[in-house]
Amino acid sequence: MTSLTKSWLCAACRRKTVFSSPLAHKILSHYSTTTTTTTTSRHGRPLRMAVVGSGPAGFYTAYRVMTKVPKTKVDMFEALPVPYGLVRFGVAPDHPEVKNCQDKFEEVASSPDFTFIGNVSIGNAGGHFQGCTIPLASMLHHYDAVVFAYGASQDKQLGVPGESEYKGIYSAREFVGWYNGLPEYANLAPDLTRGDEAVIVGQGNVALDVARMLLENVDVLRKSDITEAAIETLLKSRIKRVHIVGRRGPMQAAFTIKEIRELMKLHGVGFHDIDMSLIPDEISKLPRARRRLMEIMVKGSSARVDEAAKSWSLDFCLSPTEFLGGSDGFVEKTVFERTSLELPFDPSSRVVGTEETLTIPSSIVFRSIGYKSVALPGFKEAGISFDTRKGIIDNDGLGRVLRTKRGENEHQDQEASHLPGIYCAGWVKRGPTGVIASTMEDAFSTGDAIASDWNSEAPFLKGDSSSGWEALRSGVEHGKCKVIQWEDWLKIDKSERERGLLVGKEREKFTSTAEMLAAAS
Ligand code: FAD
Ligand code: NAP
Repeated sequence: MTSLTKSWLCAACRRKTVFSSPLAHKILSHYSTTTTTTTTSRHGRPLRMAVVGSGPAGFYTAYRVMTKVPKTKVDMFEALPVPYGLVRFGVAPDHPEVKNCQDKFEEVASSPDFTFIGNVSIGNAGGHFQGCTIPLASMLHHYDAVVFAYGASQDKQLGVPGESEYKGIYSAREFVGWYNGLPEYANLAPDLTRGDEAVIVGQGNVALDVARMLLENVDVLRKSDITEAAIETLLKSRIKRVHIVGRRGPMQAAFTIKEIRELMKLHGVGFHDIDMSLIPDEISKLPRARRRLMEIMVKGSSARVDEAAKSWSLDFCLSPTEFLGGSDGFVEKTVFERTSLELPFDPSSRVVGTEETLTIPSSIVFRSIGYKSVALPGFKEAGISFDTRKGIIDNDGLGRVLRTKRGENEHQDQEASHLPGIYCAGWVKRGPTGVIASTMEDAFSTGDAIASDWNSEAPFLKGDSSSGWEALRSGVEHGKCKVIQWEDWLKIDKSERERGLLVGKEREKFTSTAEMLAAAS
């Protein structure tokens, strides 16, 4: 069985579980009523679908729908002039094999039924954004279906004193974006020369990526597609000691086996012994994945800390309470409260504070506690419900976007219904966790929901769906912004690869929108 088929099967069996929730029952019953009262026949007319975002969720949803509903026309809108979302701007440069999914995306984009519309944001993509903007309401008029797959463009905050006061405290999203050439952070210029201790708050795989960038031999990195600016900065780095700090314990850590093993194997980099009181006595009895994780942490690195040029540690049961800085405005220390695990060996254990504190010297701090999605301008007017607490578009678990109406008074039940033709996929659908494979599975479930709705004559958007991008483009191109089509991206891609050849890398990315647009013309 291919992995694609396997993932699709998993998505299909999940349906049953998702539909067993009370909310889902409500949606289902509403949905079947609406479906039976709709009689519009589609007479083989092609489905015209807009996808907002060109990351894995956008591409995999497009692929799925195009496969299941023949003749579907897809217009994919991307705020940046270049495609692939976090595959380009998130995945670590020393993990090139992860980017192989781009081959599939290129195949999707090569279809005559697919149009890439880059440098065009739906709603406003934020203050830094310089491309073209299409208001959400205008777009909705020109499609049968719209899929929101715009990922998570912000990050979570700790909300502790000093966090936004001192320089030298970065979110992992900024730092990762910077070394990967994201235009928004091209000028971040993190100072790695202020001292030798770095603190990373959070123990997920992004935290491990950040640590690896700080600890890895720069000669290994310079062969990857990391930006030259990042190489120059890393060459000057004085960081010798990296603390990866978690508020819970090893049994609760969010990172995974391959990623922690990779750090342990870094040449000439030592790992400080783990606090063994947090490791269960009988590791062999743990489920396989947890057991492997514990074994790797207990075994540690082959390089000895006292002989290694650089070292790192996993510091557990510490929750940040304050950042302290110097008179020059730069962070100097991070204060943590020690926490106590309610059930130390239970992976879902909660922690409580102990009021005991610990201060770790911090020449630089990275906050790696997760990304965050936000609502697009125009959601409210379109009746799209966004859950600001979870940072997701409210949906039925299969990607059908909900309009949530509150009852007349707070004691009345909520009525949730699907907004016809509106769907979501990826991180904006289920929150900012999951690797590309799980994002694919998730996108396939949204694709299947769209195909099933279309084939069952369920209601879709009521606009003039015969037009799509052709109707929108005149309004956009009258402005001074340039729209990037797939052929333009291929020129940017070629240009980046040529620049890469000159410095012995696969590609040298353009780090500003202006350079990308110039390469496209
Ligand atoms: P994204 O990939 O973020 O794509 C969203 C796209 O929407 C972006 O291109 C964005 O520019 C665009 N967009 C945003 N707003 C708008 C708008 N208003 N209009 C138009 N377009 C818009 N997974 C792995 O399997 N292996 C790894 O090694 C790995 N490394 C990772 C490293 C990091 C630092 C991070 C953060 C994640 C990593 N992941 C990895 C996870 C993987 O990247 C995600 O699962 C996946 O990218 C989520 O896909 P998405 O399409 O939902 O979002
Ligand atoms: P994540 O896996 O959700 O990890 C977030 C970390 O931040 C957790 O340790 C969490 O601890 C901690 N945290 C959250 N809020 C906190 C707070 N207020 N105070 C202190 N700590 C806090 O998120 P991520 O690392 O951003 O990764 C996102 C997704 O991308 C994950 O699914 C990841 O696997 C994937 N990814 C994969 C790769 C790869 O495959 N190589 C690389 C990078 C990312 P708690 O558990 O206690 O909440």
